[in-house]
Amino acid sequence: MKKVSEHLSYAETACHCNHGCLFGLAPGGAHPSMVALFETVRAALSLERGHDCPIEIISWCRCKEHNAEVGGAPHSYHLKGMAVDTLPPDGMTTDEWYDWLDRFVGKAGGVISYIDKNIVHFDCRGTDYRKDGHRGR
Ligand SMILES: [Zn+2]
Ligand SMILES: [Zn+2]
Repeated sequence: MKKVSEHLSYAETACHCNHGCLFGLAPGGAHPSMVALFETVRAALSLERGHDCPIEIISWCRCKEHNAEVGGAPHSYHLKGMAVDTLPPDGMTTDEWYDWLDRFVGKAGGVISYIDKNIVHFDCRGTDYRKDGHRGR
């Protein structure tokens, strides 16, 4: 199967609902700006660490139904394929990963951490929205 980009498969960007939706499984799902941001983040992290550094994706594209099931915001950027939820890379805590993304993403998009799941979300909304669920700010 063709890939979304060099380090991204369609399986990784696809909606994980059980309704047979194909959102994210084909071109037109993951937003090109988000794909570019993700690859830039991955490349910078790999460069910093001196070795290839995969980023585990929990959720990228979501259809309306699945977004509701997982408690996403009603106008979540996941609905447009413009957001990704990730696990901290090996050796990083959730807070460290949040801080890293906070600095790196800058004004390109939002960064949100979820205290219950140890997930850090980032998106390409074009403003520097921040919500740190771990430290309550
Ligand atoms: Zn779906
Ligand atoms: Zn998210």
